[in-house]
Amino acid sequence: MTRNDWTKEEILAIYNKPLMELLYEAATVHRKHHDPNKVQVSTLLSIKTGGCPEDCGYCPQAARYHTDIEGNDLMSVSQVKAQALRAKSSGSSRVCMGAAWRNVKDGEEFDKVLEMVRTINKLDMEVCCTLGMVTENQAKRLAEAGLYAYNHNLDSSEEYYKEVISTRGYQDRLDTISNVRKSKVTVCSGGIIGMGESLEDRAGMLVALATLNPQPESTPINALVPVEGTPLEEQQKISIWEMLRMVATTRIVMPETQVRLSAGRTDMSREGQAMCFFAGANSIFAGDKLLTTPNPNVDDDMEMFKLLGLEPQKAFEKKSQPQSVSAEESKYKPLNEKPKWSRPGHTIERNVEAKAKAKTKV
Ligand code: SF4
Repeated sequence: MTRNDWTKEEILAIYNKPLMELLYEAATVHRKHHDPNKVQVSTLLSIKTGGCPEDCGYCPQAARYHTDIEGNDLMSVSQVKAQALRAKSSGSSRVCMGAAWRNVKDGEEFDKVLEMVRTINKLDMEVCCTLGMVTENQAKRLAEAGLYAYNHNLDSSEEYYKEVISTRGYQDRLDTISNVRKSKVTVCSGGIIGMGESLEDRAGMLVALATLNPQPESTPINALVPVEGTPLEEQQKISIWEMLRMVATTRIVMPETQVRLSAGRTDMSREGQAMCFFAGANSIFAGDKLLTTPNPNVDDDMEMFKLLGLEPQKAFEKKSQPQSVSAEESKYKPLNEKPKWSRPGHTIERNVEAKAKAKTKV
């Protein structure tokens, strides 16, 4: 049975177990709830890149930092369809479309995203979006278009979140997840390790995720990829042992969830990734770019799957395919709401410094 009352102390005790015990326990839970030889493959597609008004300390797409990211306006529906077909032919069952927005706004661009959702759903692929904060009505419009999952990461513990982002609050994240839950769309939410957080923060993030009821259907575990120009550019990369402990702990406290190896996989050996699959990871992002940071190429991944005897999970194995309702027949109309997402605006020294440094480079 899935528990929703995990405490930080319990999670820390699991995380800090002798490694072999931790791996054995995680692998045992994994086998009870999933086929250990199946791994879900998602392709992440940046449909609108860069120029984001937020100040997330890890993100090269934040307009205020000076990074080498080339910004792009929203892609066309036909471009997205072509990319989705390519992803499908190389083994992906899900396309996750990411737009560098603070929140979704009703209007032409959102209508275009809804059309992208309908188009990909018609290709019999799972469609996921990560578009920033959404209202309940927007989540329902996405659901009607045929969206399978909505990604909204908690990033870290509530306490450490304040050390990384000042332009929105943790509660906004939780509110967006709760809005998504009011629709039929599944929830994808996880975080990033290696941002300088403590083990307590890692456990705190897992408490926040595991006590959601229901728990997220998928949880990406990212390792920070420090990018020059961002406030976190000098962070030490985490070791495989930390990733392994995080994956195994996530698997134990969230037994039904698909645990996804996400950013940072280029720094992991095949042996390291194999250990993560053993410990309960059962999803990866495929494609040579993860929004803006590097990722292993698909051929390498398929070779690794062959070597390990893994097979890609088929689309809609865990939940049936949603029906797409056309724009004309849609029940949910744009409400042009003006939700009051927060803007805490506290000072994060390293974010301020990175912004100042960027100004001197222009
Ligand atoms: S993580 Fe998302 S919200 Fe934050 S700066 Fe990057 S694109 Fe914007």
